[in-house]
Amino acid sequence: MESERARVDTVSADILIWQTGYRLALAVVLGVITVALRVVGSLPLSAVADSALGPDRADWLMAIAAVLYTALVLLIRATVRRTRTADRTLSTLMMAADLTVVFWLVFLVAAPDAYFFGLFLAFVSLQITHVYFGRAPALLMLVATAVAYLLLNDVAERHGATISWGRIWVTLTIFGAGAILVTRVQSNLQERLDTLVSMFQKAEGGDFSDSYDVAADRRPDSITSVGRAYNRMRTQLAEIVLTDPLSGCYNRRGFEQLVRRELARAARAHTDVALLAIDLDHFKQVNDTHGHLVGDRVIAEVGELLRASARTDDVVARTGGEEFMILAPNTSLDGAQHLALRIVDAFRRRIFVEPSPRVSLTVSIGVVADGVPNEGIAEDLRARADEALYAAKRSGRNRVVMWSSGLDALKLKHAEGKPAAPGS
Ligand code: GH3
Ligand code: MG
Ligand code: MG
Repeated sequence: MESERARVDTVSADILIWQTGYRLALAVVLGVITVALRVVGSLPLSAVADSALGPDRADWLMAIAAVLYTALVLLIRATVRRTRTADRTLSTLMMAADLTVVFWLVFLVAAPDAYFFGLFLAFVSLQITHVYFGRAPALLMLVATAVAYLLLNDVAERHGATISWGRIWVTLTIFGAGAILVTRVQSNLQERLDTLVSMFQKAEGGDFSDSYDVAADRRPDSITSVGRAYNRMRTQLAEIVLTDPLSGCYNRRGFEQLVRRELARAARAHTDVALLAIDLDHFKQVNDTHGHLVGDRVIAEVGELLRASARTDDVVARTGGEEFMILAPNTSLDGAQHLALRIVDAFRRRIFVEPSPRVSLTVSIGVVADGVPNEGIAEDLRARADEALYAAKRSGRNRVVMWSSGLDALKLKHAEGKPAAPGS
């Protein structure tokens, strides 16, 4: 929460800094035009300002307001540049100054009939505030605008103008309703855009699990179209990014992502997961004897065979050239051993690349199964499965080795295909 506030303040700082550039430019242009028009006599004071202040005092106050506003903008910019953050007070102060200048100018030159111009200008400012600073400051600004408008009319009435309060309230109601409506539409657009942004950010990291909720959009527009397009592409993208085209299994990226998800799930549910590290035995010989193309076809068939041997919930991945891994959620050591033995057995009986050249192949498998205290266990599980696989290779290949602490090659003189039980 604290860091989120700090992040918002830093973003506000950047926004305030670039906005002050526009504020200064606008203040200078408006100041020059006003002075010029006053000098040539084309900008008479409103009757109310004339009666309340008189021409000389009004001109002086106009100049003072311009100088004060410019000084305030410069001061805020300097402060924000120095501290690199802008808390709510600074943003609010800036908004209050904007509003004051707007209504001050309207008071000086506009007849009470035209005070709604103040509302019009404030409306623009309100939208900018909403887009860049959010809903709460915009609401504050809405209330402040209404109060300023009422005050202006009250002052005018005190100085002899005829004010139709009925009309004032109707104008204010239309302004308020319009501002709230526009703000709501904008909020809705912003939220949906944010949803899209977060979906694309996840997709960038290879996570295509979110889809855009098209049904939630009552008025389908361009954003919904983008959402729909994303939904259409999502499956294809996920396949391209997360799977290995040769074997049809998950690739390393897909595997890592699913491992994270499954481990998080297992940690929550307090269930075991099993990991099988699978390596084709003497695969180099297949290439050497039959060529790479046949080798590739074998890898494709191996992918199919492994997926057929595993359950639907299991994650089967090709993690290297002729190396595969299977993550089996909700699986104990016993279950994992069964799966591994089934695979070793399936390879023994299988002839690859039929009808010719008919390749026979065996596999070695290292197995680990454990509870999941936290998601950080992934690396550890993988290291243990690899260690068991290495032991299977060293002890003669074509077999399953279950990982146990103190795994030792000397203790692994087992009959082919028989698993080395932990600690045996
Ligand atoms: P070991 O039993 O010790 O695992 O022996 P191995 O020959 O399988 O192991 P090694 O690591 O020496 O060789 C792996 C071979 O796998 C070498 C490489 O050419 C082959 N290979 C890796 N990826 C592919 C691939 O995508 N296609 C083909 N055709 N061969 C591949
Ligand atoms: Mg190999
Ligand atoms: Mg290998």
